[in-house]
Amino acid sequence: MKYVLVTGGVVSGLGKGVTASSIGLILKACGLRVTSIKIDPYLNTDAGTMSPFEHGEVFVLDDGGEVDLDLGNYERFLDIKLTRDNNITTGKIYQSVIDKERRGDYLGKTVQVVPHITDAIQEWIERVAAIPVDGKEGPADVCVIELGGTIGDIESMPFIEALGQFSYRVGAGNFCLVHVSLVPVLNVVGEQKTKPTQHSVRGLRSQGLMPNILACRSTTELEEQVKDKLSQFCHVPFENIITLYDVSNIWHVPLLLRDQKAHEAILKVLDLKGVACEPALGEWTARAKFCDKLHEPVRIAMVGKYTGLSDSYLSVLKALLHASVACRRKLYIDWVPASDLEIATAQENPDAYRSAWSLLKGADGVLVPGGFGDRGVEGKILAAKYARENRKPYLGICLGMQTAVIEFARSVLGMQDANSTEFNAHTRNPCVIFMPEGSKTHMGGTMRLGSRRTYFQVKDCKSAKLYGNRSFVDERHRHRYEVNPEMVPLLEDAGLCFTGKDETGRRMEIVELPQHPYFIGVQFHPEFKSRPGKPSAVFLGLIAAASGQLDAWLKKGTAKPYAVSNGIPAIKPHINGTPTKLVNGPLDGIYYNGNGLHV
Ligand code: GLN
Repeated sequence: MKYVLVTGGVVSGLGKGVTASSIGLILKACGLRVTSIKIDPYLNTDAGTMSPFEHGEVFVLDDGGEVDLDLGNYERFLDIKLTRDNNITTGKIYQSVIDKERRGDYLGKTVQVVPHITDAIQEWIERVAAIPVDGKEGPADVCVIELGGTIGDIESMPFIEALGQFSYRVGAGNFCLVHVSLVPVLNVVGEQKTKPTQHSVRGLRSQGLMPNILACRSTTELEEQVKDKLSQFCHVPFENIITLYDVSNIWHVPLLLRDQKAHEAILKVLDLKGVACEPALGEWTARAKFCDKLHEPVRIAMVGKYTGLSDSYLSVLKALLHASVACRRKLYIDWVPASDLEIATAQENPDAYRSAWSLLKGADGVLVPGGFGDRGVEGKILAAKYARENRKPYLGICLGMQTAVIEFARSVLGMQDANSTEFNAHTRNPCVIFMPEGSKTHMGGTMRLGSRRTYFQVKDCKSAKLYGNRSFVDERHRHRYEVNPEMVPLLEDAGLCFTGKDETGRRMEIVELPQHPYFIGVQFHPEFKSRPGKPSAVFLGLIAAASGQLDAWLKKGTAKPYAVSNGIPAIKPHINGTPTKLVNGPLDGIYYNGNGLHV
């Protein structure tokens, strides 16, 4: 096993995760099998209890692991399935050491950070790196390890110490350190400044780690003399200094690495030159370029709670993007803070109310993502009502499905106080209830989590067709509440159709309105399994419906994703007119419009 460690310096938010995923992708393109590990030096055991508003979304794995969103980047870029142990946290390491201490494994010894914690970190890495994640047997060839945070953080010290020992232990030719740093350009003189990088490399060296490759984030390509200076001061060969300058969408990052021969530098350090082939990135390159050329818009209203931080819904946005590329549309996201749709806002802040409703009405499709807590729930119910009554394409995910069911019970069955017991414990019409197996006392890891099977109940429904007429589908879950099975007959008699259920038939997984152009709610989170060339079926359905292509997709029988080998399709002329006030957000390739997004 060979290891590539990716560290970050100067500031956080440099795109270390995307860089590490891109390194993995390019190595995979060279014919190697790649796995990855993300180290998060915080004390939480996992990301499950962390606020998406602070940390971005909680990504869910097949095995139910609730992990950092970077693992989503790895899964999407490398098309692999990771396990919960591929995300290491300080909490997990300490817990394992303390458990051992209680069992008596260290009997008689003083348990210390060095060597006990540092040993536990190294053992964890070696054990997890060997788990196959690409569906093949046996361990991968290379494991990309990303160390979260920046060099100098107090919390990452034990990890750096452990990784220093580890590099020594696995030996030269088996370990390559890529340090991602920032080269700022001072506006006044337009000069690329190397000092911050020099300082962070010095920090790295002082802790016993020597970088083999420098990946420098900068607005433009690094000048020759700047690279010379970095090479000299940081003791890194000139050809191992790579610039990651700003690109139009993140799919270009692996191409930047390839164009600057980063793979050759890494393969040389890892002694793999004889084994690897030239990177095969044909399809990837075509998709990155194709995405830049899209111009006919599709506008999706995202009715959520955390509209201030796009990372809170990262996988949903990626899934929308994958589907939009498949439908040859340029994706515009209209952020609609759910609570702004509520009647209370009409009095408190009429401008916000008007703007939220005009964004919702102007969109081609509506997406209500998952969520917890009662803020904005009434707004989400109103969004579902608007989409249902106005035949606007709607996709509700998890809470977005539950609110659609509540809305239907209120409006169509006339149950005015219909609700989820999550929001009103005393409702007379509980159409969404707490699941019997949940825990009311412990929050961490106690939801219905991970991959579960959904069986289609009828063949002739949109979801089954979009999923390629399979009899079942495995998708990832993260919820405590579910549709009340006692109320299902009533809801079905009134026209709501539960087209997907679990193996017992008592748990509702997919709901549809057959007479509506596209109205689907899913209890699971399909966004976690969407991939750049393989968009998620129900997202594809939403974008296809929102851009007038759904019938064509459904007629194809199976929803065949955009494939480059079929030739790049001609782009139709633009008809709808572009929205105003466009902001090119941090997720390149997606355009945002509307309230509250920090860019
Ligand atoms: N709060 C709801 C539940 O626990 C929905 C969860 C979600 O959207 N992920 O069931």
